[in-house]
Amino acid sequence: MEHIYDVAVIGGGIAGYSAALSLKSLGADYLWLGETAFGEKVKKSEYVRNYPAFVGDGERFAEALEAQREREGVRFTRGRAVGVFRMKDVYTVSAEDTAYTARSVILCTGVDLRGNLTGEREFTGRGVSYCAVCDGALYRGKDIAVVMASDGFSEEVEYLADFAKTAYVFGGGTFRHKNIVPCGETPRAVEGNGRVERLVADGKTYKVDGVFLLRAAVPPAALVGGLKTDGAHVVVGRDLSTNLGGLFAAGDVTGLPYQYAKAAGEGLVAAHAAKRYLSALKQVKKT
Ligand SMILES: Cc1cc2nc3c(=O)[nH]c(=O)nc-3n(C[C@H](O)[C@H](O)[C@H](O)COP(=O)(O)OP(=O)(O)OC[C@H]3O[C@@H](n4cnc5c(N)ncnc54)[C@H](O)[C@@H]3O)c2cc1C
Repeated sequence: MEHIYDVAVIGGGIAGYSAALSLKSLGADYLWLGETAFGEKVKKSEYVRNYPAFVGDGERFAEALEAQREREGVRFTRGRAVGVFRMKDVYTVSAEDTAYTARSVILCTGVDLRGNLTGEREFTGRGVSYCAVCDGALYRGKDIAVVMASDGFSEEVEYLADFAKTAYVFGGGTFRHKNIVPCGETPRAVEGNGRVERLVADGKTYKVDGVFLLRAAVPPAALVGGLKTDGAHVVVGRDLSTNLGGLFAAGDVTGLPYQYAKAAGEGLVAAHAAKRYLSALKQVKKT
């Protein structure tokens, strides 16, 4: 029988770590899933001077966090969530090649500050996709563009090329498939009439049926269907609950200020709220 965690925490940043640390001390059975523990936004900070009891550069901050993680025995599972679905009282978190189940979820996926492509929002679900595994097969025999906004997506590109006639890839890398065409231009806009028809790049327009935007962070509503957002941010209550029962959000993903201390605080609050949710769920089941 598949294992059902109490809580799945998605996102390897400070908010996710704080949630996992709190869940561990609360005795919850948790999964902490992310691409890297204490990612770029910790390591690349030039100098941290506004986090209680720490002053120093990002590398040292990451080392201090890692030392604490090891000391406290907080487990980290590497993976990128590509979809979160709810059936009755159980959430399924689909990662690239694994699915996890949990009674509650804390979303700590941060925000992608790299800016939106013109037309991206308009065509989301109408040719613009964030998930190669979910939507790749829809483009069998078709021409697609793949825009990699960060490194580490070459597997996804190869996967897409299994289906596509031609995959125009923006963002570098070397690939095995012969139908992958690396493109040097900078993508500027997605255009079409009701559905995606072309990707406009600097100096050239590509006629395509789909555009895959592969990023470290996807807009939260694209990850979790039915989640209430105000654009890039999840709408949360004081206890960091969302409009979906048992699903909480913490850190940058809930809005400004984008700061470590706020993210850590929210991770803790969300962990406690998730624990209360689980206790209430157990009570309901008993009666
Ligand atoms: C250069 C720089 C310097 C900064 N300096 C400071 C500073 O000095 N002081 C300060 O207070 N703040 C600073 N900040 C802001 C701070 O980094 C953020 O507020 C903080 O990191 C937010 O933490 P978070 O956990 O909410 O999100 P993030 O740190 O963004 O973590 C989210 C994580 O979730 C992962 N993720 C996203 N989607 C998925 C998915 N689908 N599946 C799995 N994982 C996923 C991402 O890869 C990422 O690792 C700085 C930011 C930058 C960019």
